[in-house]
Amino acid sequence: MIGEMLANRYEILEKIGDGGMALVYSAKDHLLSRIVAVKILRAQFADDDEFVERFRREARSAASLSHPNIVNIYDVGETGRVHFIVMEYVQGKNLHDLIRDCEHFPQDTIVSVGKQIAMGLAHAHYHGIIHRDIKPHNILVTDEGRVKVTDFGIAQAMSSTNLTQTGMVLGSVHYFSPEQARGVNVQAASDLYSLGIVLYEMIAGSPPFRGESPISIALKQIQENPLPLRDARPDLDGELEDVVLKLLNKDPKKRGASAEEVVKAFQRIERRIQMHGEGQAHGDQTMPLPAQGKSRRGGFVGLATKKKRKKRQQEKGAPKGAPRKSKGLIILVILLVLAGITFGAIRLIPRLLFLDDVRVPNVVGLFELEATRVLRDADLVLKVEQSVFDNEVPAGHIISQDPVAGRMVKQKRDILVRISLGAEEVEMPSVIGLTTREGKLGLTQAGFVLGEEEEAYDPEVSPGIVLEQYPEPGQIVLKGTAVNLVVSKGKEAPQSFALPDFRGQDFEVVKARIRELGLPLGNSWPEHSTIYQEGQVVEQNPAPGTMVQEGWSIDFVYSQGMTPSTPEPQIPADPREEPQWTHENLWKTQDVILDIQPGPDQEVVILVIDDFGAREVYRETHKGGSRVVRTIQGRGQNARIQVYIGGRQFYDQLFQE
Ligand code: ATP
Ligand code: MG
Repeated sequence: MIGEMLANRYEILEKIGDGGMALVYSAKDHLLSRIVAVKILRAQFADDDEFVERFRREARSAASLSHPNIVNIYDVGETGRVHFIVMEYVQGKNLHDLIRDCEHFPQDTIVSVGKQIAMGLAHAHYHGIIHRDIKPHNILVTDEGRVKVTDFGIAQAMSSTNLTQTGMVLGSVHYFSPEQARGVNVQAASDLYSLGIVLYEMIAGSPPFRGESPISIALKQIQENPLPLRDARPDLDGELEDVVLKLLNKDPKKRGASAEEVVKAFQRIERRIQMHGEGQAHGDQTMPLPAQGKSRRGGFVGLATKKKRKKRQQEKGAPKGAPRKSKGLIILVILLVLAGITFGAIRLIPRLLFLDDVRVPNVVGLFELEATRVLRDADLVLKVEQSVFDNEVPAGHIISQDPVAGRMVKQKRDILVRISLGAEEVEMPSVIGLTTREGKLGLTQAGFVLGEEEEAYDPEVSPGIVLEQYPEPGQIVLKGTAVNLVVSKGKEAPQSFALPDFRGQDFEVVKARIRELGLPLGNSWPEHSTIYQEGQVVEQNPAPGTMVQEGWSIDFVYSQGMTPSTPEPQIPADPREEPQWTHENLWKTQDVILDIQPGPDQEVVILVIDDFGAREVYRETHKGGSRVVRTIQGRGQNARIQVYIGGRQFYDQLFQE
């Protein structure tokens, strides 16, 4: 693993710890150039899909927490089968190692640790997250003495596996609350109990309840009272002792109203210790602990180590633990006698501790009352976690349950359910006039779903602006309804199209047709034609096939019928009269005969320049070696014909008489 790059980003540097569920490494985050801690799920859990999903969910919910006394979660991810959590790297030690190395903590240090843990818990509890596994391993202390709690909620994922049956739970059972030991309702107050055990251990050097097996420890959590702390520490501050004992109450309701209240109690003690200038007082009122190695009076450097303590005890004669042990023995004997006398008591105790496993029935879709009954029949308790609006599930029915149906859990366990409040009706907000991005964002934020999106031209509205929405603004609709949008494409760009070939068609019909196409009629003039009948289009400009746009005008030459035969000389009846030139007199006709050079295709263009001006009368591509014959007409004395072949002028001459 060392040297590997996770998710293309986290370079694993070295192993810094390992626990039951995961291995912890320091790593370099190459994206943000900082050192982080990466917790990698052990391979045996990676195969349990449901566990992995839960692990990720819990990690994500813990990631929503941000507090100086909570280890920040930065990222949760997976690469292949490797599941990992990236978190703040805490330079320091865990409290377990600190307790092992320095047993005699100054009282202000204990108060400061307790206060900081309670501050972290208060923040998490406020956000609805219970730690469930408060123990010294999960409490990290920085070199500056700041306390940071880690692994929020991850124990929840653990409880979903069968691990609780294995030895892995051994490390935690010393810190389990009585309700956790029984396997029932974990609550915020359970974290307070565990905090009480941690503080007890800091004061006395070991946790209050110890035993050979998890069962014997759990039994003590449920039944026994801890030995008085003053036995272990005669100089103990009375109020500090009270706080710790209150936290260790078997009844969750009697442990104090909240973590917040515990913080206040510690703050009171801190102020008092400071005012009275007790030996352990340190000047720092803020959260961090006295720095290691900095202060002899308050820090960890001057603390008595376990070895020194043992030595002192030997010097004093009988160790202090002796009366405690004998007292413990007496209790044990009494218990055993009682257990022996009462038939079946031995069997009853484990059953009390570890209730039978039952299979969780499915209550999704059931009405709340019905679900409560079904769960009660299975010896489980329905607990409403949330009531939420839901378009699919009718009001009062169960939307989801946790744990899911089919899982084996302990009897009496809470089954958390989400209950539907039915469909929520809301007024449709307006997104008309907003940009599509703003509109969509607004709709999703208001709980709507994006439906279909269409585009439409609108010359007055810029492209990308919402023109219409369905359902329309102001309508009362179900929250979560899909909203369809019509978005402006702006002004319609004129479309180009190929001009049809109108030659040979009736000019009147053609006029109507171009009007339909949005093409105005340009110039038009008549021409004699040997090819087209009277009234038919002879020529058009632009030529057929040219790409044109709406609004472009089109010129036409239309047929007047055949060329008149040689005009009769018009002799004026009266020589004084002006000669009456008829229209026909001026028309000239000529056959153009062209031989295309052998070789590639050539475009032939024939222009007529006459009384009407210049116009193209022929444009066509012909094969090399072919012959082109066209009859061309022009009007007026100076009518000329220009012929272009392959873009070059071939000739330019007057119509021949
Ligand atoms: P459990 O598996 O029951 O939680 P654990 O808490 O000892 O036991 P891990 O949570 O895997 O196991 O942590 C192992 C050790 O890694 C911790 O005890 C701590 O010393 C170290 N560690 C964990 N998180 C960090 C961190 N963010 N920064 C520095 N060290 C850490
Ligand atoms: Mg841990």
